[in-house]
Amino acid sequence: MSFVVAVDGASGTGKGTATRYVAEKLGLVTIDTGALYRCVTLEALNNNVKLDNTEELEKIAKNIKVDLKIIDNNQVVLLNGKDVSIEIRTPRVTNNVSMVSAVKEVREEMVRIQRELAQGKNVIMEGRDIGTTVFPDADVKIFLVCSPEER
Ligand code: C5P
Repeated sequence: MSFVVAVDGASGTGKGTATRYVAEKLGLVTIDTGALYRCVTLEALNNNVKLDNTEELEKIAKNIKVDLKIIDNNQVVLLNGKDVSIEIRTPRVTNNVSMVSAVKEVREEMVRIQRELAQGKNVIMEGRDIGTTVFPDADVKIFLVCSPEER
């Protein structure tokens, strides 16, 4: 059994900040879905896989092992056992992740991983497809909006 809170909303509405705050207050696990897409991108770049090679990207998405851990209050991202927390935030990855996340087959695998990571836990997750695709039956669904000034 698990309890799922799904947070959605336009970019710049503070989804990430609100999610981390609520997670801490209520003792929920939060899963950084962007980190998953970043890991696929890093693995592809490190293996010289062209980012328009859908078949190879799908293979990577199927085979990578991603662990998200909290150590000393910091999120640590392990890709196939190696700490890549810093590497996945470099411009090399940031500038290429949208190409990878646009691939349907990659998205399907990431949805599978997100569900696996949430299994049996009480989680709060944010992302554009969380309430619609990943957890359509979430216990609580939040859609954040804000005025242009607040943004
Ligand atoms: O949140 P973050 O900047 O780490 O996300 C990196 C990228 O991963 C986004 O720019 C987007 O391309 C992709 N992403 C996605 N769906 C999500 C989370 C992230 O497509 N739920």
